[in-house]
Amino acid sequence: MVTTNPHAALLASPGMGHLIPMVELGKRLLTHHGFDVTIFIVATDSSTTTSQILKQTSNLSSLNIVVLPPIDFSSKPGPNPSLGEQVVIAMIESLPLLHSSIMSMKLRPSTLIVDLFGTCAFPMARDFHMSTYVFFATSAWFSAVTIYVPVIDKEMEERHVYSHEPLLVPGCEPVRFEDTLEPFLSLVGPVYEGYLKASQDIVSSDGILINTWQDLEPASTKAVRESSILGRFTKGPVYPVGPLVRNIEPRQEHVAVLHWLDGQPAESVIYVSFGSGGTMSEDQMKELAWGLELSQQRFVWVVRPPMEDETSGAFFDVAKGGDNAAAYLPHGFIERTKETGLVVPLWAPQAEILGHPSTGGFVTHCGWNSVLESILNVVPMVAWPLYAEQKMNASLLEEQLGVAVRAKVAEEGGTGRVVRREEITMLIRRVMVDEEGVNMRKKLEELKKSGEVALSKFGSSYESLCQMTKVCELRVQGSKAKAQG
Ligand code: UDP
Repeated sequence: MVTTNPHAALLASPGMGHLIPMVELGKRLLTHHGFDVTIFIVATDSSTTTSQILKQTSNLSSLNIVVLPPIDFSSKPGPNPSLGEQVVIAMIESLPLLHSSIMSMKLRPSTLIVDLFGTCAFPMARDFHMSTYVFFATSAWFSAVTIYVPVIDKEMEERHVYSHEPLLVPGCEPVRFEDTLEPFLSLVGPVYEGYLKASQDIVSSDGILINTWQDLEPASTKAVRESSILGRFTKGPVYPVGPLVRNIEPRQEHVAVLHWLDGQPAESVIYVSFGSGGTMSEDQMKELAWGLELSQQRFVWVVRPPMEDETSGAFFDVAKGGDNAAAYLPHGFIERTKETGLVVPLWAPQAEILGHPSTGGFVTHCGWNSVLESILNVVPMVAWPLYAEQKMNASLLEEQLGVAVRAKVAEEGGTGRVVRREEITMLIRRVMVDEEGVNMRKKLEELKKSGEVALSKFGSSYESLCQMTKVCELRVQGSKAKAQG
């Protein structure tokens, strides 16, 4: 049976950075565009974090949320799958569960919206006569690279991968090799092949949504939109629909970190966090601790136990984690900084911290949700990218938008490949103390306003979702007419 309203099923792949924007898109479709919405969540065993996030998210009573049974990675073959491989495995393993869940629904969805990792669900969606959409919870620049990859000049691509020349994507800033994506480290092997396959699936979808807006990335937005004009090579239109970020809810209960921020002067605290998954080595954490202390600025730092791999925290279960920061931070650090700093283990209410008037800067790994949250709260950044497309995001923030200063890794010296304490101190002071931070705030103020305009009635992102809604409504009406005779 088919509903009369368009009914969107949103499939979120594992990881808070994927789930949070998907929930925001669901809320937007429901509250502004008349969709019925069901969100399917592919969970790992870190479902405690998942449920905490869902609890913090407003309007949930009207969103239908289905958490699919968690996938157990321990039984999967192969040694140490990478983060991306784990996400892909989880998505494939979840397909039968998704299928039976949709089969059992009285009012089946008419549209499937997946993130970058969910295109494996398209064949199933087409069997159910659902239209297919991809939601890029990231920049138009990264989306353009991904969309253009099947048609990109092969010789130029080889020169990028093997001679480290910039990757040229029509209409966009070139991607420097130092900022490149994992698939461009080698053109042979499963990473590149998987990326290419995902890209081919994405361009075959009925439409592509991107969590950005025209005024933030004018050139890249134009480039992705042009990929669909006159059916050039994307089958469906491209819709910039952002900035979709979590709203800050009125405080219901005592939250220690927010209470602490209440007692600090305006814009005096630098917030340090590497997203839901970022981790660093013990040496790097010690340098960062020293850098913070030497900067003489107030701080809130979300810490995770040190790991050699930069993505180890991705499926970390907050409820299971310990609180032993003193064991791996420099001796006496917590005691020496207790008047001016707060170390928060594992997870903090980031949206609320960035929205707090005492927060004046953000040391970030440049995950796209963090970037948008920082822009919309007018918080200048120290860009410290770790993995995925974060280096491109850092370059966008520093070089194209002028709202961040970027951390440089020291290649040599006693401490190994780390960002050194002197560099960290200098970057923090540039954002928090120097005139540079003031100028960044002025630019951020403009970007924030333009983001709000994009989402307001008749704004570019609002209109994008109206156009997409119209297509989905027509399709539902068509199916209904067909069913009637
Ligand atoms: N986040 C949070 N508390 C934390 C770490 C992360 O609330 O301690 C939220 C953050 O506000 C953002 C998301 O988790 O909405 C992380 O997404 P992002 O794209 O920034 O990075 P990712 O985790 O995907 O690398």
